[in-house]
Amino acid sequence: MKKKQILLHICCGPCTLYPLKVLREEGFEAIGFFYNPNIHPYREFRRRISALRQVAEKKDLEVIWNRDYGLRTFLREVIFREDDRCEVCYYLRLRETARLAAELKAEAFTTTLLYSPFQKHELIRDIGEALAAQFKVTFFYQDFRPGYRKGQEEAITLGIYRQPYCGCIFSEEERYDKKLRRRRQRHESFHRIS
Ligand code: SF4
Repeated sequence: MKKKQILLHICCGPCTLYPLKVLREEGFEAIGFFYNPNIHPYREFRRRISALRQVAEKKDLEVIWNRDYGLRTFLREVIFREDDRCEVCYYLRLRETARLAAELKAEAFTTTLLYSPFQKHELIRDIGEALAAQFKVTFFYQDFRPGYRKGQEEAITLGIYRQPYCGCIFSEEERYDKKLRRRRQRHESFHRIS
């Protein structure tokens, strides 16, 4: 019997391992989709592509690649709303995934972003569900976060590069500037309360 195809949006190599395992156990034939205009600077972007190529080879995973470096596209979308940029970032990446899944006539789409405890999980789910309705393709929601440690351990064992920050140049700055990080955390807790 032909397996159900699922288009898996992939943010990076290490975050692919656990969700891929779960999807295969669920009986899906997963096809990866690398589309991340948010990853900067250029050398980091190339490095994450190499890491995913390694994972794809080791796990026999077909990947559809968008290797265009999206610095300008991304900055035009988030400028003047830098503190709320993650919503824009999720939407950009998932919209393209949902569009492609519909074009490929895949059964469903999902994302490795649901694996990271550092992302805004509920927001990703809400955006995925809204796009599913728009593009008429199922969003496969699963909380992959319980497998975070397992996936990271496997990445270490396989020698896959693990990046030190989320992706955009703003997240790189926050990773290394404590004051900025605290300001952003305050901004986020204010929005949670209000
Ligand atoms: S912090 Fe991560 S999710 Fe948020 S905008 Fe930057 S790259 Fe995207």
